[in-house]
This record gives sequence, C-alpha cells and structure tokens, in this order.
Amino acid sequence: MRGLNYTFAETADAAVTQFAEAGGSARYIAGGTNIYDLMKLGIERPAHLIDVSRIEGLDAIETDGDVLRFGGRALMADVARAPVVRDEYPVLAESLLKAASQQLRNMATVGGNLLQRTRCMYFRNGAGSSTTVGVYLCNKREPGSGCAALGGLDRTQAVLGTSEACTAVAPGDWPVALAAMDATIEVFGPEGTRNIPIADFYLLPGDTPHREFNINPGELVTAITVRKTPAGRTSTYHKIRDRESYAFALASAAVAVEMDGDAVRTARIALGGVATTPWRASAAERVVVGSSLTPELALEAGHAAFTEARPGQHNAFKVELGARVIADALIIAAQRRV
Ligand SMILES: Cc1cc2nc3c(=O)[nH]c(=O)nc-3n(C[C@H](O)[C@H](O)[C@H](O)COP(=O)(O)OP(=O)(O)OC[C@H]3O[C@@H](n4cnc5c(N)ncnc54)[C@H](O)[C@@H]3O)c2cc1C
Repeated sequence: MRGLNYTFAETADAAVTQFAEAGGSARYIAGGTNIYDLMKLGIERPAHLIDVSRIEGLDAIETDGDVLRFGGRALMADVARAPVVRDEYPVLAESLLKAASQQLRNMATVGGNLLQRTRCMYFRNGAGSSTTVGVYLCNKREPGSGCAALGGLDRTQAVLGTSEACTAVAPGDWPVALAAMDATIEVFGPEGTRNIPIADFYLLPGDTPHREFNINPGELVTAITVRKTPAGRTSTYHKIRDRESYAFALASAAVAVEMDGDAVRTARIALGGVATTPWRASAAERVVVGSSLTPELALEAGHAAFTEARPGQHNAFKVELGARVIADALIIAAQRRV
C-alpha cells in the first residue's frame, strides 16, 4: 500500500505553493475523471494530489470585451450550456457535448480536458498496475522503451504528426475546437502568468513523446480565452466514432467559416482523432478561401488536409474518413449563415 497525501487549494497561489512544497511528486486534480483512471492503471503514481476544484473564481465563464474567457476549472457541462457559447459558438458547445457522457461532463473541467492523456491502448495497458502485468512497450509511458503500436493493432492510431517513436492520437474534442478558434491558454506558476497560443500548447511526439504539453511542472491552467469572431456562429464540430455516444473520435473536424454569399471569405479548420496533436488543417483552409463552396470543393479541401498522412497497417481508412468529415463539416457550417 502506497501513501497518498490529498489536499485542497483554495487559491491559485496556494495550489502553486503546495505543488512546489511537494517536491516533484505532486499532481493537480480537478474532476478526477482522467487522473484517477491513470492511477488505477499504474501510469500515474503521485504521492500528493492537490485538488483545484474549489479555487474561487476559477470556474467563471465570462465575456471580457471581445474575448470569451473560461476558467480552468469550469465544468465541461457548464461551458457547453452557457448561452453565449451555445448560441454564438456552436463549434465550442458541440465539441463538449459530443465528448464523454453527461455524467462525466458534470465532473470534468475544461482545463483537465486539455491535459488528458492519450487513449492509445498500448500506452494505457502495460504499466503494471495491481491488476495487469506490464507487457506493452510505450515510449510515451517509458521513454526509450519502444512502441508496440508500430506494427501492432493500429486502427485507432494517428496518421498525421506521427514519428518513429509514437503514433498515439490526441484524445480531446474541446482542444480541436479551440485549435480552430485560435484559443489562448493562460497558465499560472512559480514564475507568474504565461499566455500560450493553443498552436504552441501541444508538442509533436518526435523522439520525445513523453513530453506532450508546453507547460512546466506546477503550472496551473487558470483560463482559456477565445477571441470573438463573426465565424463563431457559422461553425460546427463534426465527430465520427464507433458508437454515437460515449466514444472518442475516429475522425472529427472543427470548422468555422465566414461566408460572402456562397463564397468562403475565411475558414478555420482543425482535425481530431487522426493526429498526434489537435491538428490545424491549413492546407484545407487554403483550398476553400476565396471560392464558392460546393460539395466537390469541400471534399478537395478534405483531401488536401491529408496529403502528408502516414497511415499504418489498419488505419488507412482514416484518410478518406477524415477528408469526408472535413467536407461535411464545411457544408454544415456554411448552412448556418444567416
Ligand atoms: C469513459 C470516458 C469517455 C470519455 N470520452 C471522451 C470524449 O469522447 N472526448 C473527450 O474529449 N474526452 C473524453 N473523455 C475524457 C474526459 O473528457 C476527461 O477525462 C476530462 O475532460 C478530464 O477533466 P478532469 O477535470 O476530470 O481532469 P483530471 O482527471 O482531474 O485531470 C486531468 C489532468 O489534468 C491535470 N489538471 C487538471 N486540471 C488542471 C489545471 N487547472 N491546471 C493544470 N493541470 C490540471 C491533472 O493533473 C491531470 O494530469 C472521456 C473519459 C472517460 C472516462
């Protein structure tokens, strides 16, 4: 039996101080829907959990001038049903409502969602918990040990952003919508506050797949901000999965467009379920901007997003599926113009 210290932080300052005092073996816990899972699997073994779910003000959902601001411990369910999100930013609301289950969304926070770990089965199985025997090699779990997904069952693995060391998919839906909306992540730590563009928040696996987030030990996600844009209303999050609820994406697309009649003035497209990070599909955006949107052009844009895809043995279907998800999402978003 290993001991575990569990404390509550009432302020962001207190959380950061407690983390520093714990000396490297601490983890923050918010809703606990991911970290408890990882502790049971033997992947996370903290000696100290610092509960941030009571920090005052960190659950606020606010409009500040032309910026939407979501506190780091705001619940997924609360953000999804906030009127400004539901009515003006369907891409954000839908990415949350299509994630997990209502019960989970009532517990889980938008900050925790950003930092959840991959669902790669080789990562999750093999750490040698109390109920499993360590068998699968995983460079993300144990740097330098190897990757059992390469040449293994790779149906759900990534086709974009992969490396020789790792093909694990970035799991979250919300970060994909945030990538399309060019969100900023505000973190607070021993050195003060940093604002990190979401494009810089997630790290490609390269040969260091254990480094997933551009965040330092002890830094707390205090807020997520999204700049308001007219494209917010003409947006959607389209997600394809093995079953219609309670499942991670096989392929998903967050799309927001500004239309001028049938012509696309601006486009923001990001992909989930197919890449090692929330994936901005700039090549697809370039195909549609300035042109009339037709189903054929939408599919051409979808295909453009996958020109650099590197499928494995069982996941080549994601290339065509992902292209079609983008195409459908573009049409759905454009139909929302008033
Ligand atoms: C059955 C199941 C199905 C799911 N399906 C989906 C799905 O379809 N789509 C999807 O997107 N997600 C899905 N999820 C994942 C779920 O959305 C995440 O577990 C949840 O969002 C994590 O939030 P949390 O507050 O519970 O995080 P926690 O479990 O508390 O923490 C997760 C990680 O974030 C860190 N952390 C938490 N808050 C902060 C903070 N403020 N600052 C710094 N670090 C912090 C913790 O230290 C930990 O490392 C599913 C989960 C389950 C169990």
